[in-house]
Amino acid sequence: MASIAPGKTIGILGGGQLGRMLAIAAAEMGYRTHVFCPEADPCAAQVANDVTIAAYEDQAALDKFAQAVDVVTLEFENVPVAACEFLAKTVPVRPGAGVLRIAQDRLLEKQFAQKLKIPTAEFYAVDSLADLERAVLQAGLPAILKTRRFGYDGKGQVKIKKPSELAGAWEAIGRQSAILEAMVDFKLELSVIVARSPSGEVVTFPAVENRHKNHILDETIVPAPIYPRIAKAAETMARKMAQQIKLQGLMAVEMFLGARDVIYMNEIAPRPHNSGHWSIDACITSQFTQAIRAVCDLPLGSTAILSPCRMKNLLGDMIYNYERYLTEPNTKLHLYGKDDPKPGRKMGHVTRLLRK
Ligand code: AMP
Repeated sequence: MASIAPGKTIGILGGGQLGRMLAIAAAEMGYRTHVFCPEADPCAAQVANDVTIAAYEDQAALDKFAQAVDVVTLEFENVPVAACEFLAKTVPVRPGAGVLRIAQDRLLEKQFAQKLKIPTAEFYAVDSLADLERAVLQAGLPAILKTRRFGYDGKGQVKIKKPSELAGAWEAIGRQSAILEAMVDFKLELSVIVARSPSGEVVTFPAVENRHKNHILDETIVPAPIYPRIAKAAETMARKMAQQIKLQGLMAVEMFLGARDVIYMNEIAPRPHNSGHWSIDACITSQFTQAIRAVCDLPLGSTAILSPCRMKNLLGDMIYNYERYLTEPNTKLHLYGKDDPKPGRKMGHVTRLLRK
């Protein structure tokens, strides 16, 4: 397969901080970038060569975008599959519609893992209150009801503790197609980022631990404080998923480490991931550079850790403390150029290197 050489233009669907860091990595390697997203004033466009602000349903705008770029990637997995299919008639889209279709739907995602004999939380499809009642009899309580589509950072999910909460939970998620998951009693949450090029080369990043606050990632610990054999098993799981889903590009696999060291797949995100931001400062190849390499079908880079580290997200008005981070030793501050620090909004992050 022919690689896409530096100097060419990479189209990025989505205009948030992941797109911004992708565009920076692309520029470092001599590529041009063109961001396409529906939101006005996307922070990715501040560092891209071109931007198109249009709906993902706007075929005229998509067509013009497809003519202007050499390959398309994405920073947001809820891009409509139809938009990717439309673009793919003109230009390669990596990851493609097949991967997106699975990653956008929690039921398909878990069924995919099940097919590969990868453990997941026990899960049941729920399309009605009656389904939910039946599922709870199987899964037991507490359990988590999650919408099949469009959930992120804990949105679109409700924990059910008592049978009297079933009807309220079904209302709370808007009576949408959902899955009920049994609770996994996990020791910690892990993720592994994996890249696969169209030529079939696969490289994983080291497993990291993710700690959440209010359902939003707070800190990533690198490497994860687990035995090497467990890290290896997590990385093998991510590799297997990337190969079987025929990934072209980069994907994060979120996991739970449960009792007796069983690793459960929780979800996949076929794009750069918040838990990989540390790699910009503490890895030979960052997740963004790796995504660009994979999407352009170049050889993938080394993911060796240069220093153990911790990444902390800066949410909302935490960025007003930016000067504090500038004076901390071994700390690198990243701000995303967003001007509205709403509570919980990802505004930046810091990576603290722990090398003595
Ligand atoms: P998710 O949107 O699936 O990533 O879920 C958000 C967070 O809820 C996860 O990071 C976990 O902390 C928690 N969670 C989700 N599913 C489960 C589960 N089946 N068992 C225990 N905790 C869960």
